[in-house]
Amino acid sequence: MTAAAPETENVDPAEIAKFSELAHRWWDPESEFKPLHDINPLRLGWIERVSGGLAGKRAADVGCGGGILAESLASREAQVTGIDLSDKALKVARLHLYESGLKVDYRLAAAETLAAELPSAFDVVTCMEMLEHVPEPAGVVTACAQLAKPGGWVFFSTLNRNLKSYLFAVLGAEYVLKLLPRGTHDYAKFLRPAELARMAREAGLEVAELVGMTYNPLTRIYKLEPDTDVNYLMACRKP
Ligand code: SAH
Repeated sequence: MTAAAPETENVDPAEIAKFSELAHRWWDPESEFKPLHDINPLRLGWIERVSGGLAGKRAADVGCGGGILAESLASREAQVTGIDLSDKALKVARLHLYESGLKVDYRLAAAETLAAELPSAFDVVTCMEMLEHVPEPAGVVTACAQLAKPGGWVFFSTLNRNLKSYLFAVLGAEYVLKLLPRGTHDYAKFLRPAELARMAREAGLEVAELVGMTYNPLTRIYKLEPDTDVNYLMACRKP
């Protein structure tokens, strides 16, 4: 028996199976992926603003899934590479390009693998709603830092870890509002902003901006706000 290559060890197969099982519904805006569709314009606008525009930039989307963010980056004229370890999600992502007419280079690869192949190649690296599904998030953060060019941007988003995030992101979203299937999120894998910031700094990044994302179940509106208690996004710069 040979051990798995180090660059492919940082993955939880159960997590990949969970996303693969639902992958055919990725582009249905009323499906389990509705929250990703709903937050996409917000995060895209923020990435565009912080990075100073996407046109002509080279972007890597790590954990791209069915390609909601990757395609929107491409729609802003970035040259996008999307990677994921769910073959099914990537198949859906590739098929959707026929519908959108956009161009994205989708690859079945771990962040660590792409980083070894294309170090310092990207102006913009995005890794959204993915770190909370990975056994060793620090490894992915380091790979994202390696992918970025000096002066490039790395954008993360994930879930904070505290009583409120448990109540909102797990009980509220999965059990009460049923926005997400039960078992989507494992509270123990949530990351506090300070923990993510430390991983980013240890990977040689500078934290430039931290912003919260809130959901109002009455208006069903998501907003970017200073409140980072539940969902948050972090922009980092590679010096
Ligand atoms: N980033 C996308 C999709 C988020 S869903 C978006 O925000 O729209 C989380 C994705 O992470 C899934 O597609 C899942 O297959 C992927 N994923 C989970 N663990 C991974 C790993 N170790 N390496 C690469 N992708 C992973």
